[in-house]
Amino acid sequence: MLTVFTKEQLLHTQACPKLLNMCLQATHKWSDSSLAIVVLDNGYLLASESVWSSEQMLITRIDAQARLHYPTLHWAKCESALIRQTLTESDAIRRERSESLSFDESNQSMAKQALIDIVMDAHRQQATDIHLRMVGREARIAYRIHGQLYRQPSRSRTSVTEAIAAALNTQSEDFREVFDERHLSGASISLVMPDSGQTMRIRTQKSPCRDGFSVTLRLQPSEQRSLPELYQLGFSPSRIDVIKRVVGQASGLFFISGPTGHGKTTTLAAINSCIPASRKIVSLEDPIEIIQPEIEQKFVSSEQDIHAFANMIKAVLREDPDLVEISETRDLQTANASISAALTGHLVASTIHATDAVGIISRLHDLGVSLEKLSQPGLFAGLLAQRLLPRLCTQCKQEHHSPQWGKHAVQSENGCKACHFTGLTGRVAVSELIIPDERASVWIKQGDWDTWKRNLAKSGWDAMAVDAMLLVRQQLVDPHHAYELVPGLETSANINLSKLTGEALCS
Ligand SMILES: [Zn+2]
Repeated sequence: MLTVFTKEQLLHTQACPKLLNMCLQATHKWSDSSLAIVVLDNGYLLASESVWSSEQMLITRIDAQARLHYPTLHWAKCESALIRQTLTESDAIRRERSESLSFDESNQSMAKQALIDIVMDAHRQQATDIHLRMVGREARIAYRIHGQLYRQPSRSRTSVTEAIAAALNTQSEDFREVFDERHLSGASISLVMPDSGQTMRIRTQKSPCRDGFSVTLRLQPSEQRSLPELYQLGFSPSRIDVIKRVVGQASGLFFISGPTGHGKTTTLAAINSCIPASRKIVSLEDPIEIIQPEIEQKFVSSEQDIHAFANMIKAVLREDPDLVEISETRDLQTANASISAALTGHLVASTIHATDAVGIISRLHDLGVSLEKLSQPGLFAGLLAQRLLPRLCTQCKQEHHSPQWGKHAVQSENGCKACHFTGLTGRVAVSELIIPDERASVWIKQGDWDTWKRNLAKSGWDAMAVDAMLLVRQQLVDPHHAYELVPGLETSANINLSKLTGEALCS
């Protein structure tokens, strides 16, 4: 029986420099990504399962060479992705030391494979984003899983930068420059995952920071098996009914707000799936994040032209849509074009950055839309605000008791196998929805957001905080996460808790 090497055991080892070329060439020659071999500087010959079972000749050859340096050579097996990682890292470090960064074709294809390996590892752990920070010679890596960042072992900056460069140069649809780590702008990469055959779109975004620069890779599986439905995201049956009524209207504006990465786009896609096929949906997006075969999605490049969205809205209105969607309203031109469309009898839905439902109107005002314009009765069909809260792993969550919450559950520190040792399994949405009435128009005209909010609370309206408190009491969410992510939870402590025992939020 061969010893099996884990990720942790490989952390502090390198490939033996004398045998590195031999192992790189052998691994590069195999077009099958399940084959990889390396001799480590601690005297281990490490090969993947497939190599041990089908490449005896090669093993004998490398073994003979390795024994010249390590007379008591040990044998072990390991996942091919981890072996390749060791090879590319050791190669990058060697080239950094010799300061000759020559990069030939075999490096290029190994580098491309290195990015696939990183993406596969992240995707397996259910990460939505990979965050890379280049500091000195180091690439610090973190995965965002269920909304939280998890640090991963650091890699060499050279190998990670080369991996991204190789993919951008060969696999990108919209990358038109020569790769330069200081000038990497947003671009998309398509990679096929060897384990599932699934195509993964990766949106890269680079920004400078104090001590280097950072790159964010957003993972977008392009063949989503099925889009989630609203109830699966955590919306209550009564809220789903109201949302359906809102998007069933002939005209008006419907906004979904929340911070970045809190599922606004996913909610909009889930809403689309409950709209009857007899209605035509045209969606204008930059970038296209979720492929939705049932609707008409158009890519709008707004990077160079700030009027791109506004012009496209005017153009698609001539194509007789029932619902026009805009991936995000982030400038005055787009906001004004949407308002004109809504006032001329069209239904327009969009996402927007705002803290809460009332905040959507103040955000539009901040963009430059006058209060006069915003207060026109009937302009807004609905204002939805949402957050995603980490859902506790049912296998390892821990029971607690406090005077404020009574019996509740908190995240396990070390997690368990079922939750990849994070203590969490996915996320659940909390939301609030306002259908502005005539009285709201008065407060909007005066810009009096506080009075509006006070009146909503008095009328028994369910703010996002109520959703969050219900989830805590159902032991689905840790109260610490609720406090951290939901605005107004502190001040909602006087909400009548008996109200919360009524409706079940999750099925
Ligand atoms: Zn667990």
